[in-house]
Parts: sequence; C-alpha cells; structure tokens
Amino acid sequence: MTTEQELLASIPTGLYIGGEWRDAEGGKTFDVTDPSTGKIIATIADASAADGVAALDAAVAAQGEWAATPPRTRSDILRRAFDLLQERKQDIALLMTLEMGKPLAESVGEITYGGEFLRWFSEEAVRITGRYGLNPEGTGQMIVSQMPVGPCYFITPWNFPLAMATRKIAPALAAGCTVVVKPAALTPLTTIAFVAILEEAGLPKGVVNVVQTTSSGAVSEPIIADPRLRKLSFTGSTGVGKKLIAQAAEGVLRTSMELGGNAPFVVFDDADLDKAVDGAIAAKFRNIGQACTAANRFIVHSSVAEEFARRITERVNGFSIGRGTEEGVTIGPLIDEKAVGKAQELVDDAVSKGATVTTGGNAIEGDGTFFEPTVVTGVTRDAQILREEIFGPVLAIATFETEDDAVRLANDTEYGLVSYVFTENIGRGHRMIDRLETGMMGLNVGVISNAAAPFGGVKQSGIGREGGFEGIHEYLSTKYTLTPVS
Ligand code: NAP
Repeated sequence: MTTEQELLASIPTGLYIGGEWRDAEGGKTFDVTDPSTGKIIATIADASAADGVAALDAAVAAQGEWAATPPRTRSDILRRAFDLLQERKQDIALLMTLEMGKPLAESVGEITYGGEFLRWFSEEAVRITGRYGLNPEGTGQMIVSQMPVGPCYFITPWNFPLAMATRKIAPALAAGCTVVVKPAALTPLTTIAFVAILEEAGLPKGVVNVVQTTSSGAVSEPIIADPRLRKLSFTGSTGVGKKLIAQAAEGVLRTSMELGGNAPFVVFDDADLDKAVDGAIAAKFRNIGQACTAANRFIVHSSVAEEFARRITERVNGFSIGRGTEEGVTIGPLIDEKAVGKAQELVDDAVSKGATVTTGGNAIEGDGTFFEPTVVTGVTRDAQILREEIFGPVLAIATFETEDDAVRLANDTEYGLVSYVFTENIGRGHRMIDRLETGMMGLNVGVISNAAAPFGGVKQSGIGREGGFEGIHEYLSTKYTLTPVS
C-alpha cells in the first residue's frame, strides 16, 4: 500500500485541458486541506475564467470526433477506466479520505458505487437506439434517432467527490458528449486522480477537461453563457442550483439539477424495529450525515418512539470518532468549521424549543472539524432542524399519531429527493409510494443508491435523473425525420 506522502506526490497538480496537464493562468494555485487535521495536503492549479473558456474550447474541438467514435470504442474506454479504478481502489480511497474526511471503508464503498457508473454506462453506450415506422396516414416513414447533446459542463460537490463525477461523466461519454468538469475546491484531488485514469484508459485528448478553481462563479459564468455549450449538469445546494438555472435560461441551455434534500424517515407502529434501527443508522450516519439522501427528519409513531430512540442511542454510543484513515473509525470530521457551526445551531435551536439530547450534542474541541454523533428526541414541529438540511451526524426524532399526519409532516418541505418508510404492512407501504412526494423511496431499507437506478428528485430537489436507463437520455437529444414513402 502506498504511503500518504507517496500517494499525494503522485497526483497531478495542474488543470487538465486538451489532454495536457498545465498551470493555471498566471501560475495561480490553492491549497487543499485534510479536515481531520486542518493541515495542507496539496497545492494545485487554480483556474481563472480564461482557463475555463480554454477548457470549453478543447471540449468543443473534440466533440465532432468523439461523437463519431464507434460506440463500442467509447464503451471499451469506459470499461477500461472501470477496471483501472478497481485496481487503484485502495489508493483513490485513501486520497478521498485525506481530502474529504470520511472513514476509509466508506471511501472504498464510494469507489465501488461510483465505479459502477462506468461499468453501467459502458454497457449502455452500445444500446443507444431509435425507432422507425410508418406515419398514421401511410404516406411517410418516421425516423426517430438519438444524437449526443454536445459539449457539457459539470459542477460537482465535495461530499461524494468520485461518484458525483462518474454519475455525470460516464453517461456523457457513453452518449458521445465531451465534458468540462469543475470539482468543488474543497475536494478536487479525487476528480483529478479519476481523470488521470480516464487518460490512461485511452480517452482522446480534449474529451474530458478539468478546471479546479477557488472562483467557481467567475469560471462558470462565461462557460454557461457560451453558445457552444449544450448542457449544464449540477450537483449541489438548491440555492446555487437556482442561480445556475437562471444563468442557463439566458441561452435556453439544457440542465440537469441534483439539488438538496430533507428526507423524511417514517417509522410506523407496525415496523420491524430492528430493520428500522439498522436503516436509520445507515441513512443518517453514512458520510457523517453529509449526503443529500441522508435521513433528515425521523418521523416515528408515538407508541414506538421511545424504544426506537433508546436503541438508536445505544448504537450511536458505540461509534468511534476519529481520523478516517484510522482503523475502526466510523465517524470522521465534518468538511469545515461552517458545517460544525450549523450542526450546533440546529441542535441548540431544537433544544430551546423543547427537544432532549440523548447523546452527543456538541462540537469537539481540538484539531479538525468534528461534531459528536447526536440523537435528539421530542423535536417540536417549529424546530429549524425539521426545515433545513442538517448535513451532519445529528438524528432528530419527531412523533406522529396517524398515517395522514405522518404523510402531511413528511411532505411538509420544499424538497422532494428521497423518503424512507418502515412498515410491515404491504398495503401501507404501497400507499406511501403513492403519497410521499419524493423522486425516490427506501421501503424498509436505509440506503438505496445504485448505478442501475434513476437517481433524482422532485420539487426543489432537482430536475432530471442520473443512472439507470434514464441516465443516458440526459445526454441525448431526440431527432425526428420524415421521409415520403416512395
Ligand atoms: P454547493 O455550495 O452548492 O456547491 C456545489 C458545487 O457548486 C461546488 O463545486 C461549488 O464550488 C460550486 N459552486 C458554488 N457556487 C457556485 C456558483 N455561483 N457558480 C458555479 N458553481 C458554484 O453545495 P455543497 O455544499 O458543495 O454540497 C452540498 C449540497 O449538495 C447539499 O445541498 C446536498 O444535498 C447537495 N447534493 C445533492 C445531491 C443530489 O444528487 N441531489 C448529491 C450530493 C449533494 P466551490 O465549493 O468550489 O465554490
């Protein structure tokens, strides 16, 4: 196994534009830090707006040839990248933990999950088809074909630095689109390492370009305003997503938006509590609570709430907090001080309105940005914690009495990404599928993500789907042709 220093020294420090690793304009750089220590782990190129446009130039130049590349060739490159990622799994996982903080085992899990998009879309690349048929009048043949959308711009967040990139890059490449990707400044190294793998897998120059930057707005605006760009795909907060939609509207640019969540986790009185507790631990504490799919509001029937809270608290008390690289650690640091401050504020607000902390509840003093894994019970309906994305290891429990009440509370949010429901009553489970306003649901399960499934939300959680059969259609446009019957 490579040491941390050897690994960090092996990662390119430049921007990747037109198949070359190069310095940013003016030689500007920025530091990447380890959130578990606050120490600098890398200093890398910091793209300017002109670098961003140069990356788009490269993507535009490569578009024609890439679209004309046989699907089998595109598929083979994706498959080779999948294989290389498996070979390098331990190293890339360590890199991810160093820049993002999650426990090493979870980084390995993300690489497995994120890698699956390469395999899935390598398989989809060769199955892009259209249709052909007589019009109802019998006078013409209608040909419906699928064309690559064209050059794409991807903006990805820090919480899943690999998977949020592969979920976009893999289907775009499979469809024949070229790409400029801008990772979050907090976690650019994993994306850089992944793009080096794509290069090694034989991806032609200019097909994928990377512009890490500390000036995300200034770099993104000219790219989004450029008429040569054909698609914007963003994963991040709803606030930034709305700004980007407004910018994209100017050029009627096609967008996919994977935005924030406020997932309800509903436990009925007929639930299997063992399953519900296992599901809750996974849905809440995976990624230290920093997932758009994280269960945010535990809505538990009053008759089982006390027992549910007792069992959860017992499990949480068994967690091991520390640097993600250390053996046995289950809870790493939050991404930064701001995230710690927000978790504290939400817990304090809930307590001030009558809730009780059964374990945790505070930031941890010392190096790194740690917050105690926390359980809060008796949360009242006016608490901020039920309104906002917590994005931290805080499990908040509110109670309900009737099924209608549970549905009302679950749907009482502008978000609609995912919901979790625990019930042993099949009829009730099916009613919940219909009644809960979310793009995805875990029915008696706490983790649902899968490359083969269409991931995405309704309401202010986003537009479009990533993964599944649906995922590639975000990068294809439908063309209809009519030709007379001769
Ligand atoms: P964020 O602040 O919205 O940032 C996301 C990305 O947007 C980063 O690359 C960021 O770059 C960039 N960005 C910020 N301001 C920008 C601007 N004005 N123009 C262009 N780009 C800009 O979100 P985050 O805190 O990183 O991520 C957490 C959020 O993502 C949560 O709300 C979570 O629910 C959501 N998320 C959603 C999904 C999903 O699939 N629905 C998945 C994961 C996360 P810099 O940070 O470098 O400025």
